[in-house]
Amino acid sequence: MPANRRFRRVVRIGPVQVGTYYDGRGREKHAAVCTAPRCGFSVDYDSRAAAELAARTHRCRVR
Ligand SMILES: [Zn+2]
Repeated sequence: MPANRRFRRVVRIGPVQVGTYYDGRGREKHAAVCTAPRCGFSVDYDSRAAAELAARTHRCRVR
């Protein structure tokens, strides 16, 4: 999760954090980012529901 983004409404689903932010053009975006070291899972969506679904279905390879 890049430090220069300001996430709002951050929730944690398993190892994955979901947060809402505005991109450089002021559009609302939703990111799902895995916090496990070395995982690297990170996706952006236009829809909060899609980001939360991705977080719930993420199967972390790192144990
Ligand atoms: Zn992961």
